[in-house]
Amino acid sequence: MVNSKIQAGEENLLHVYNRFPIALDHGNGMYVYDTDGKEYLDFAAGFAVTGLGYNNKELNETLKEQVDKIYHISNLYYHENCGEAAAALNKITGMDRVFFTNSGSEANEGALKSARRYAYTRQTGKYEFIAMENSFHGRSFGAVSVTGHDSYREPFEPLVPGVHFAKFNNLDNVKSLVNEKTCAIILEPLQGEGGINLATQEFMEGIRQICDEKDILMICDEVQCGMGRTGSMFACQGFGVKPDIITVAKAIGNGIPVGAFAMTKKVAEYSLKQGDHGATYGGNPLACTAVKKVLEIFEKEHILDHVNEISPYLTKRLDEMTEKWACIVQRKGKGLMQGLQFNIPVGEINKRAVENGLLVIQAEGNVIRFVPPLILEEKHIDEMVEKLEQVLMGLC
Ligand SMILES: *Cc1c(COP(=O)(O)O)cnc(C)c1O
Repeated sequence: MVNSKIQAGEENLLHVYNRFPIALDHGNGMYVYDTDGKEYLDFAAGFAVTGLGYNNKELNETLKEQVDKIYHISNLYYHENCGEAAAALNKITGMDRVFFTNSGSEANEGALKSARRYAYTRQTGKYEFIAMENSFHGRSFGAVSVTGHDSYREPFEPLVPGVHFAKFNNLDNVKSLVNEKTCAIILEPLQGEGGINLATQEFMEGIRQICDEKDILMICDEVQCGMGRTGSMFACQGFGVKPDIITVAKAIGNGIPVGAFAMTKKVAEYSLKQGDHGATYGGNPLACTAVKKVLEIFEKEHILDHVNEISPYLTKRLDEMTEKWACIVQRKGKGLMQGLQFNIPVGEINKRAVENGLLVIQAEGNVIRFVPPLILEEKHIDEMVEKLEQVLMGLC
């Protein structure tokens, strides 16, 4: 598709995205295709969303059948697939109660409200949140209030009051911010947008311990790092740490807009009550059918095992690139959520990679991020390295 045609259509959209000048048309497996039929190897997965890749026949057929039956009923009525999706989600998160949302931001909004409501019921007077520097929790007011980047927050101030930012992986700094008003600590076990920063074992365990000792709720934002991406179903489980509230979205619907926050029975007992929260679309039959089917496929096709089999090869190839190229500082991350940190700005690298038929995304701090569909094979990793190295040849 010619650029001018894209621009003409794009004029009608609000200009908040720095879009690449390509118009995508369809996808299959690890690849997407533009309107001219050009093929792109996808290591972005629509921002870590399409874990099962594109055009998964079983998922597509199931969604089509559900569309023909019914796809919206409102939450005044029960739909079987929602109860079943929630049960499946509870089974893998270890939580007890689920609320389905339309997005990751909304999942975090719900988690923050849940924590405030928990404190309110128990009349503890707690309302403050501790969040992490370099975190990303979404764009709605609550979510952006706990996002650790000035540029995301400043234009929209004043935000939700009572938020303190701690240095990621610095337990002493967290401790210094805790007081009798702290109601919850929210963090991503593996920060995505913030530059692919993995929490340390000590940090995750330390946060859990602080929360237990001081009657504070631990909220893990698994929107990006969850759903098998790091080699455990949820990244917090890789540390053997169980939060009180967990938030998910992105890969859980493979692209059907759906997220969720889930909590333990203990939290639910004192938290959101009838009338406290809701979402007209949240967890409609189509969204819940997607979640139910995605989780079924995960189990049936042993996606998690596959992630653990394939990710050492990605690690190896990225380590080799780090050795070889002077402009690469280090490899970061875990499993199929990794990044290469460069000592030069990565905008141009990303742009040329897309031109060269490889979709990758950037993260904070000159990082090129790799969050491919979880179904990838070694040959795709080889193809990615080849395409990226062709780009680096002119820049590095
Ligand atoms: C993407 C993301 C969000 C926001 O999700 P949306 O669906 O865009 O609202 C929240 N937290 C993390 C960690 C994310 O990566």
